[in-house]
Amino acid sequence: MIRSLNSFDLKDKRVLIRVDYNVPVENGVVKDAYRIQCSIPTIKECLEAGASVVLMSHLGRPNGSTNDNYSMISVGEVLSDFLEIPIKFSHDCINEDSINVTIGLHPGEVHLLENLRFHTGEEENDFEFSRLLSKHGQIFINDAFGTSHRSHASNVGVTDNFMHKGMGLLMEKEIQYLMHKFKKPKEPLVLLLGGAKISDKIDMIERFIIKAKSILIGGGMTFTFLKAMGLNVGKSMIDESMISTAKTIIKKARQNRVKIKLPVDFVVSDAIDKPSKIETVSFDSIPDNMIGLDIGPETIKLFSNIILQSGTVLWNGPMGVFEKKEFENGTKSIANLLSDMKDQNIDTIVGGGDSASAIRKFSDIENITHVSTGGGASLELLGGKNLPAIAALEKL
Ligand code: AMP
Repeated sequence: MIRSLNSFDLKDKRVLIRVDYNVPVENGVVKDAYRIQCSIPTIKECLEAGASVVLMSHLGRPNGSTNDNYSMISVGEVLSDFLEIPIKFSHDCINEDSINVTIGLHPGEVHLLENLRFHTGEEENDFEFSRLLSKHGQIFINDAFGTSHRSHASNVGVTDNFMHKGMGLLMEKEIQYLMHKFKKPKEPLVLLLGGAKISDKIDMIERFIIKAKSILIGGGMTFTFLKAMGLNVGKSMIDESMISTAKTIIKKARQNRVKIKLPVDFVVSDAIDKPSKIETVSFDSIPDNMIGLDIGPETIKLFSNIILQSGTVLWNGPMGVFEKKEFENGTKSIANLLSDMKDQNIDTIVGGGDSASAIRKFSDIENITHVSTGGGASLELLGGKNLPAIAALEKL
């Protein structure tokens, strides 16, 4: 059993929280503060209970050495704005100075540590690095769901040094919706998959092929399925190495009476960038020189009708190249549909990465039952894997 935040007596304690502040930063400015915003409830709960808080995270890939481009300073500015208090910052996460700052904290104060990955010990899950990190807290809380599929010092090694450890509010919500809910989802369960890569969604398909009523497939991965069925896909993206896997999935779906629905029409174009010709065609008449870049209007209708009859819909992966205005319509329509379904007693769960960005770009995230903050971590958890950082919280 993993302890929840509210099971601890936090008064006058120093709480070390692993957060996920791996956010896009350009020229020292945070471009998307969503992950920082998601960490606020846990921090506030600790502060209101009379604790002081030490926050640690990685940012980007500095590969074990100090690099100003990956400094947490810009994150600290945004954090301070969200919390509406000044915060303390240390330029190194394990040196004596930083540990002294932590020891000097008063209840209600926050201390942000510099990027964990400025030390090789973080990704190596080094014993000594974990021990030094643990000096920052009397209680350890992991709220960094996005890195749970990694076995690093700050989310796995560090836990061996704590008697008192547990999950933050964000982590708890992710586990609730991506793990517990799917043990007994509201029926019928519909899976909507898209994006470019099939390979990282295979475990999820295998797991849900016996549970789901329908699996709807859009995005670039469609064309590997169409190819597996012997259809012409023009110049659309295909993954040759996945054709036989696609055939097996189609066969398994038939055996399990799961309906796999592929698009019935596509928006095709001569180019992704600066297209000179865009048209909508049926799935079986993609011209040789054209690329399929979005699902078409008939597919949007077909998918929407199935989604509206579901009890739970799990969405992972965009329906087209939604980064381009010309090819965003499929993804946008799905994002709007899920948002509009708010009052329909349907659980809408969005599994991180690009589909989460699409929800935030096109619709109202507040209307969705759960939008995961983790890309890879959510795929692995939904695929039925044990995530090392979650398992580490269960160890006594
Ligand atoms: P993934 O990481 O596998 O979920 O893939 C996400 C990416 O798939 C996004 O950047 C989309 O632009 C891309 N994508 C979606 N549909 C297509 C398509 N039909 N052709 C090429 N790329 C696509």
